[in-house]
Amino acid sequence: MRRPLVAGNWKMHGTRTSVAELITGLRHLALPGGVEVAVFPPCLYINQVITGLEGKPIAIGAQNCAVEPMQGALTGEVAPSQLADAGCTLVLVGHSERRLILGERDELLGRKFAAAQSCGLIPVLCVGETLEQRQAGRTLEVVGRQLGSVIEGLGVGAFARAVVAYEPVWAIGTGLTASPQQAQEVHAAIRAQLATENSEVARGVRILYGGSVKAANAAELFGMPDIDGGLIGGASLNADEFGAICRAAGS
Ligand code: PEP
Repeated sequence: MRRPLVAGNWKMHGTRTSVAELITGLRHLALPGGVEVAVFPPCLYINQVITGLEGKPIAIGAQNCAVEPMQGALTGEVAPSQLADAGCTLVLVGHSERRLILGERDELLGRKFAAAQSCGLIPVLCVGETLEQRQAGRTLEVVGRQLGSVIEGLGVGAFARAVVAYEPVWAIGTGLTASPQQAQEVHAAIRAQLATENSEVARGVRILYGGSVKAANAAELFGMPDIDGGLIGGASLNADEFGAICRAAGS
């Protein structure tokens, strides 16, 4: 069956000193067997984290990548091939902060997704609706469009080597969490959309929930049938809290 994945998105947080402290905390964690654990540090600290976590079963990912797979003339960007070379195995694509603050659109995100996969990275495609869209009853339409755009461009088979993260924008960093039932409804819809094209891919793909997950609410969310772990923001900056969330995924 699907192996749960708990991934910590550190966003634009950290200094060399605080990252070193977090690495020490992570090294001391007792992690549950059967759960895959990953962290996504700011790009600048990826090397420090990879070195610091050597021997610990924690995968490292990047929070973003360039649209072009290989190194070249693209000032300020980091190529997926460079992330792979540094030791990353995963990359976030389409986090809502990048969609909404930086204006990243579906077409561009499809290119990033493809570029990442072409270098052997696993893209974690983030989808989710704003509060306004939810209140207008448009949640499934919005999420369906974000997912559908990648399916259309790359084919459903691309999701055999990818992860989806459902992150309602209104729940990110706000302390508001989708109820397990609200999250499950969207996760089931995502899986059903994939299943209309390929039921095997749909059964195998991991769909993470993200949005104010903490140790206190993780077990209930992870207990839902279509929730295969979490993408954790704020709570992943505290190693003990993150460890407790990882253990909730294993229970
Ligand atoms: C995120 O940024 O992906 C996230 C889920 O943040 P938080 O857990 O802080 O809501």
